[in-house]
Amino acid sequence: MSKTIDLQVNAKNIADFKKGYPLILRDAIINPQALTKEGSIVRLLDRNYKFVAKGYYGNQNKGIGWVLTQKEEEEIDFDFFHRKIAKAFERRDTLFADPETTTFRVFNGEGDGIGGLTIDYFDGFYMVSWYSEGIYSLKHHVYGVLDKIASYKGIYEKKRFDGKGEYIEQDDFVRGEQGDFPIIVKENGMNFAVNLNDGAMTGIFLDQRDVREAIRDKYSKGKNVLNTFSYTGAFSVAAALGGAVKTTSVDLAKRSLAKTIEQFSVNGIDYEQQDIKVMDVFDYFRYAKRHELKFDLVVLDPPSFARSKKYTFSTAKDYPALLMDAIAITEKNGVIVASTNNASFGMKKFKTFIDEAFKKAGSKYKVLEESSLPRDFRTNRDFPEFNYLKVVILQKLK
Ligand code: SAH
Repeated sequence: MSKTIDLQVNAKNIADFKKGYPLILRDAIINPQALTKEGSIVRLLDRNYKFVAKGYYGNQNKGIGWVLTQKEEEEIDFDFFHRKIAKAFERRDTLFADPETTTFRVFNGEGDGIGGLTIDYFDGFYMVSWYSEGIYSLKHHVYGVLDKIASYKGIYEKKRFDGKGEYIEQDDFVRGEQGDFPIIVKENGMNFAVNLNDGAMTGIFLDQRDVREAIRDKYSKGKNVLNTFSYTGAFSVAAALGGAVKTTSVDLAKRSLAKTIEQFSVNGIDYEQQDIKVMDVFDYFRYAKRHELKFDLVVLDPPSFARSKKYTFSTAKDYPALLMDAIAITEKNGVIVASTNNASFGMKKFKTFIDEAFKKAGSKYKVLEESSLPRDFRTNRDFPEFNYLKVVILQKLK
């Protein structure tokens, strides 16, 4: 056990911590040089050396650690992890009991009381993601708790503490039995093929569950659907199951073709009736314009930042332009699902992007619905910056 380190908080940051702000930013600390070993427990103190909060040191792209408790006497030990994780499981008991959904997030970092740690459930398997060496050095507690409270087939992990939070390549198997991948998990009755030991991504982004359900149940029947940045085609699957006459999935990653075929197939959908294009979305927009293609439903869910051979794209800068491309090939009264996971701006700003795009396109729209993270991705309402997902479903009026 490394020793506790005392950190002095800048006067202007004290109120935030007292209100429960969970992230320890380097700028909030007067003496960050006191930090040496990741995983050390830190005490945040005010100018008069009075206790403010307790947390751990772990370098992450977002900050240098997370607050764990505002109670001075609370120890950060096995029992602490046990309390937090058991509580998180309890909060998801309706999901655990739902036979139609066998994959969801069971522990969402700071939203469940421990920043830098997430745990996802995939039909009997757990996948633990570690966002700093600091939290990873406390892994014995987390795996110990899972052994105690979860009956599982197996555990996998993702280390994401390389510099910018990138995934570190390794065999991700931790303990239990190895999965026979792909395993098939369910989400609101839809099937998804998942592999927990094939790099950073699993085949499905669990934070879009509500959006997939909305697409299937409300926006797809009889529609011609375009899914851009489609990855494994999860939105296309939802649309096809919702009665879309046809889906077109566009992603430039070569492996997206086989993965999308697989997702259609595990749902009993004939992939040959669907279009799957391995190409740059920006080229596809040009192609669609040239051929005067139009769609009833267009899904836009780009990565926050992407660089391909020809283009660089950043949602914070280029979302309006991307949306204009989408508007141009959406039918009148058609629907656009505009989504972004960029945490650097909020819903308000995102809506100004939408406004800007429609104005420039000389078009009009109406918002049908808005959503953010689903309930299992628990976040603190007081700090919306951690609720990174912003989805606006809108209708093009002219
Ligand atoms: N919408 C997907 C997730 C998208 S992940 C879902 O919900 O499942 C981002 C995807 O964008 C990746 O698969 C990546 O290959 C793809 N991508 C990034 N830049 C691209 C571009 N310029 N053209 C097409 N696809 C791109």
